[in-house]
Amino acid sequence: MVELKTADELAVMREAGRIVAAALAAVRAEARAGVTLLELDAVAADVIRGAGATSSFLNYHPSFAPTPFPGVICASVNEVIVHGIPDGYRLRDGDLVSIDCGACLDGFHGDSAITFTIGPPSSADATLMKNTEAALEAGVAAARPGGRLGDVSAAVGEVGRGAGYGIPQGFGGHGVGRRMHEDPSVPNEGRSGRGLPLRPGLVIAIEPMFMAGGRDRFVTKPDGWALCTADGSRAAHFEHTVAVTENGPVVLTAP
Ligand code: MG
Ligand code: MG
Repeated sequence: MVELKTADELAVMREAGRIVAAALAAVRAEARAGVTLLELDAVAADVIRGAGATSSFLNYHPSFAPTPFPGVICASVNEVIVHGIPDGYRLRDGDLVSIDCGACLDGFHGDSAITFTIGPPSSADATLMKNTEAALEAGVAAARPGGRLGDVSAAVGEVGRGAGYGIPQGFGGHGVGRRMHEDPSVPNEGRSGRGLPLRPGLVIAIEPMFMAGGRDRFVTKPDGWALCTADGSRAAHFEHTVAVTENGPVVLTAP
């Protein structure tokens, strides 16, 4: 069931979103060669706790996963697309790092992700990040009242396919509210003019994840969580939680 949010609820969700943005900014500021993914997890945990919120990810246990998620962030490096478990891996120059983070404030969640490199990006990584973020922006721009959910999916997918990237099937955006993942599901490809009508109060996470190798195949790591490109190519992931309002889309996880 799709739940529309009231103006008061959107105000709370904006605060949850700000906390997520602050956590991501803090992680990015600390990320450098030699730092471990667990250290970055602790940085995000401190920001969330300090803001009086709780982690949306810690102990989250969806049906596809064998164990509850053990981190506050997903840290997905290089060929890992999404859902990387933060561990003792030490970042190295040239790593392509996606950080996904969620926080819950007063019962409402925010969910956002960024991708960056350790040190200057290769030109291929720079292009992959630029296009993935452009797909997010296109999806956000399509999240306006009077449109359809398929407009968002089509906008995201056209950027990814236009750039020749692979798109993992079965993973993408989703409704956000009292639960981190709720209806509707927001695929990263679709047909404009189709699907759920976009009404004021609808809140969705839009989250393009593209694979540089151009194939759609992915594999799951033995931990049951991390999705990796099957061809070993690199992947990028950007995400915002977005409210459809009468005045157009509002990015709740903007800084
Ligand atoms: Mg996320
Ligand atoms: Mg999400």
